Amino acid sequence: MRLILTLSRPMKLFGQLDRTNSAAAGRELHRFAAELYPICRSITGDGIRQTLRLIQQRIPLQIIEVPSGTSVFDWTVPKEWNIKDAYIKDSSGQRVADFQKCNLHVLNYSVPIHATMPLSEIRAHLFTIPAHPDWIPYRTSYYKEDWGFCLSHNQLVALLDGAYEVCIDSSLADGSLTYGECFLPGQSSDEILISCHACHPSLANDNLSGLTVATALAKLLAECGSNLHYSYRFLFIPGTIGAITWLARNREAAARIRHGLVLTCLGDKAPFHYKKSRKGNALIDRAAAHVLSHLSEASEILEFSPYGYDERQYCSPGFNLEVGCLMRSVWDSFPEYHTSADNLNFIEPLRLAESLRACVTILDVLENNRRYRNLSPFCEPQLGRRGLYHSTGGDSIANEINARLWVLNLSDGTNSLLDIAERSGLPFSTILEAADLLRENGLLELVPEANVEEEVPAKVAHKNSVPNF
Ligand SMILES: [Zn+2]
Repeated sequence: MRLILTLSRPMKLFGQLDRTNSAAAGRELHRFAAELYPICRSITGDGIRQTLRLIQQRIPLQIIEVPSGTSVFDWTVPKEWNIKDAYIKDSSGQRVADFQKCNLHVLNYSVPIHATMPLSEIRAHLFTIPAHPDWIPYRTSYYKEDWGFCLSHNQLVALLDGAYEVCIDSSLADGSLTYGECFLPGQSSDEILISCHACHPSLANDNLSGLTVATALAKLLAECGSNLHYSYRFLFIPGTIGAITWLARNREAAARIRHGLVLTCLGDKAPFHYKKSRKGNALIDRAAAHVLSHLSEASEILEFSPYGYDERQYCSPGFNLEVGCLMRSVWDSFPEYHTSADNLNFIEPLRLAESLRACVTILDVLENNRRYRNLSPFCEPQLGRRGLYHSTGGDSIANEINARLWVLNLSDGTNSLLDIAERSGLPFSTILEAADLLRENGLLELVPEANVEEEVPAKVAHKNSVPNF
């Protein structure tokens, strides 16, 4: 049984990505983001349905509808919102704010209105960002019925006093909440959850980057077929209410989730940030920290906090799932956040591809973390005799040989490969290759257990600023 071959296909596709392949993968991710960008999404309605149907063309996605009014824990599935048009017209009939040009112009979830009123009356319903006068803010009013428009500050100051025609051709009525679920069965019924929100309109980093990377990841894993150890569940859901709705309807499936990642803000230039699960010392936390510490770019590990994305729900005390959040820029910490400047130019193909590779590398750790026993533990076995001590690395000991020595030394049946990778400072992939080779040469045996998931004491959050290679 060659357990360490699981996930070998994505490892070959993305773990070993050269720049050319990264560029091609990145272009495809960015192309998909561009396809999704114009759609006016919200937490319910046709925008999220249309988005899910486009994802469904790429991966086996089940689209689920949950009726408005359904109780989900302390919440209620809201009414369905749809919109055809919205504008503010001046007295000459010219649209001074036009939903058709940019869907951010309408306060998301606005109730319908069609009236003519003086600017003084409209002002209370207008939102701008004076500090960035060219940008249009993204605002919502999900749980309070209201209407409004978002403008660039320059647009607002150019408005003359007088009467304007205000029209929001929307509907807010009983319907359903829509989410997408992609389940990929593995050898084990234990699950890994990948979750991203799909409810933001034309916003690229905070929304589309997570959607496109998650879709590509699901496609890669689907190609692995039965090679996967874990079963994988991908959720494409409206933020907050979507996660709450899924958890309320899927208590049994939630109990099978062993590890998980919320994916968001993965396309901008910022270094990676990984926010730990509520437990803080879960295997996903260690795997993510390890993988990020070996990237050529800087990264930062953040402690858990009860604010953020849907890890808030997965890590609520009743569930306390081992789910962290992988992002580049952290929500609300970059000026473009929730503005029209979070557009297709703000996300870069290569950054998206690197994010996809980081996800695959983290999953590779989870899939392949095993425990071995050294079958020749009395002094070092003679590696040279087996052709395992040759090096092309000059005088210094090559990583490959070093990894073999670490694996032999620490494989006493108690240490996992991740333990060895952490202690040796070598990448998990190098340790995995060494273990594979040593086992092929009869020096190691696999400790028979389903998986290695012991917890270790929480470590202090690290700030990795020194590239390892
Ligand atoms: Zn957001």
